[in-house]
Amino acid sequence: MINLKCIYCLSVEPLSGFNTEHVMPRAFGTFEHNFTLNNSVCRTCDTYFSQNLELRLARDSLEALDRIPSDSVSPESLTKLPFTETRLKITEGFYLGLNVRVVLNGEIPTVVPFPQVGFLREGETQWAYVTQGELDNLSTPLPTDIADDGIRIITPSEETEEQIIAILDERGVPFQRRGELASPGTDESDIEVEISGQVDQIIMRCVSKILFNYLSFCAGHEFTHDENFNVIRRFIRYGHVPDYRLVDVSNEPILHTDTENLRQTDGHLVTINWTGDNRHIIGQISLFNRITYRVSLASGFQGVWRPIRQGHLFDVGNRTISGLGVTSLILPNP
Ligand SMILES: [Zn+2]
Repeated sequence: MINLKCIYCLSVEPLSGFNTEHVMPRAFGTFEHNFTLNNSVCRTCDTYFSQNLELRLARDSLEALDRIPSDSVSPESLTKLPFTETRLKITEGFYLGLNVRVVLNGEIPTVVPFPQVGFLREGETQWAYVTQGELDNLSTPLPTDIADDGIRIITPSEETEEQIIAILDERGVPFQRRGELASPGTDESDIEVEISGQVDQIIMRCVSKILFNYLSFCAGHEFTHDENFNVIRRFIRYGHVPDYRLVDVSNEPILHTDTENLRQTDGHLVTINWTGDNRHIIGQISLFNRITYRVSLASGFQGVWRPIRQGHLFDVGNRTISGLGVTSLILPNP
């Protein structure tokens, strides 16, 4: 019987305990000649990652917003999610504060509201919106001093409207229908929307995992079993944080010829390299070439040096993966 070692938990299992792991989570595209790890990540780790790290990155992150053009996220699935860390809010007019998402209507980005309830408290002029997901969560506080006609229910269908009224009722907030609201975003005019998101540990662990997968794919899984990678391994798998910074977040482009505002591609960029002194291994990743994460994969590496300098573009549009010329990279310094 063949026994194999998982690159994340280091447990030794028979072949049957392993899954095929995609270097790039499938939510961020499937590619021709896709990069996969075979017999490297155990089923337990794989399940843990998809439920605890990848779902969040794919559905509730600044990167998730960039998935909208392909609209692989169904509206139904979004209404069920808490969607708490990343928000788009209308910043002007009648619907100031409304939680929305953006979908493409043909070529035109259109604002679509989430199912939600607006509350206007007595003496106030600004409505506060609570999404259906938050309303479902009994620990979300609801205002008690609601003004007359101070409840707005925003829903895509009568069915969700009834659901929301039922939850409000359960939570002791009776609702009486007094009229119909004009739907936001139907008058063809531009609406200003504010985007806010959290880059927290879950996101950092998830992007670190993509890079560690990539390292393992490029350098082989035996290399990534090395104890020099224990710190990053434990961070990704268990959230253990060392006493130095593992992940830097910036708007700095990875490609030499990009500027902060002018990008040549909206594909994903992934690179690994030694620092100039050959002591540390640094990975860089930018999903949709937007936010750049620079991750310390190994610090103070003690072992046999090997060439690992690599970079790839995962082109979301034409679904290809191509190698980056090393001259086109900004090479990380320690
Ligand atoms: Zn494992």
